[in-house]
Amino acid sequence: MAVHAHPDDEATGTGGVLARYAAEGVRTVLVTCTDGGCGDGPGGVKPGEPGHDPAAVAAQRRAELEASCRVLKISDLELLGYADSGMMGWPQNDAPGAFWGTPVDQAAERLAELMREYRPDVVVTYDENGFYGHPDHIQAHRITMAAVERTGIPAKVYWTTAPRSKMEEFGRVLRELGADWDPPEDAPDAQDAADAPAQPPIGLPDEEVTTLIDVTEYGERKYEALAAHASQSESIFFLDLGVERFIQLMGTEAFVRVRDTTGAALPESDLFAGLR
Ligand SMILES: [Zn+2]
Repeated sequence: MAVHAHPDDEATGTGGVLARYAAEGVRTVLVTCTDGGCGDGPGGVKPGEPGHDPAAVAAQRRAELEASCRVLKISDLELLGYADSGMMGWPQNDAPGAFWGTPVDQAAERLAELMREYRPDVVVTYDENGFYGHPDHIQAHRITMAAVERTGIPAKVYWTTAPRSKMEEFGRVLRELGADWDPPEDAPDAQDAADAPAQPPIGLPDEEVTTLIDVTEYGERKYEALAAHASQSESIFFLDLGVERFIQLMGTEAFVRVRDTTGAALPESDLFAGLR
């Protein structure tokens, strides 16, 4: 079970493991917490700009998410259906139905129900900073950890991460490509938002990464899943790398194991080590 914040996060963060384990016969469940309504609209129109209609964006992104699930052969898609909260400090954070404004207990109980239904052996989500500080990612982390605690069902729990050495390589490639890469903390008003936490750096020192999964064999599938989300500028950016470069850069997925009842030795190269 992978718990993600928005339509498209399943592809960028865990597209490789979802495709790989589905191919190995594992039942894969994707839980997407929000409708992605703060994403780009047709023609790249941004939230708050004239012509940006969150309901239309959500509908488009739902269709894209379903296409991505078909590519990754995800067995079950579960939508919690909260409204996208936008970046830290945006007024959408406080809108009715926004994920960020939903009490953790309430959303965690809905997720716990899904855990009771599917009984996942392995659960994957983000670290406490939501990998890069997006409120919906932080909230996805919080409800997942609360649901794990409530149910005690998953034998293993992982947070997505990136080894720092890889982040440096990533930055180099972006600069080579002349990318105008906006770090999330540059989002409008984020700097002076009272509720914005200090931004810890993305990823972990290499030696703290417990689990590296080689997904190069499924790199093309991951690229195609991202292509299903072509309305979003972040996807377009990755697609512009071309499939070979993309696989070089994104062909290994990194995790930190935070719960384990199997006793599998670390470091690992399989999320299901100790379970089969
Ligand atoms: Zn996201």
